[in-house]
Amino acid sequence: MGKLLVLVLVVLVAYAFVKALAAKGRASGAAPRQHTGERMVPCSQCGINLPESEALAAGERYFCCDEHRRQFRQ
Ligand SMILES: [Zn+2]
Repeated sequence: MGKLLVLVLVVLVAYAFVKALAAKGRASGAAPRQHTGERMVPCSQCGINLPESEALAAGERYFCCDEHRRQFRQ
C-alpha cells in the first residue's frame, strides 16, 4: 500500500512538472492575438468584445450595436 502511494505521488509530481513546463513555454511565446491583428474592444453596455472596426464608437466608448449605444446614454 505504501509503495502504491509513492507511485501515485511520483506520477502527480511528474504531471505537475510537465504542466508547469508547458505553461512556461506558452507564456514566453508571443501573446495570443486575433488572426487579423485587429484590436478588440468591449461594448460599454453589455461588455461583449468585438473588433474595433465592427464596434460603434461614441467618444472614447465602444458599443456592439446602436441599441446598446442608445441604452447607455439613458
Ligand atoms: Zn452591447
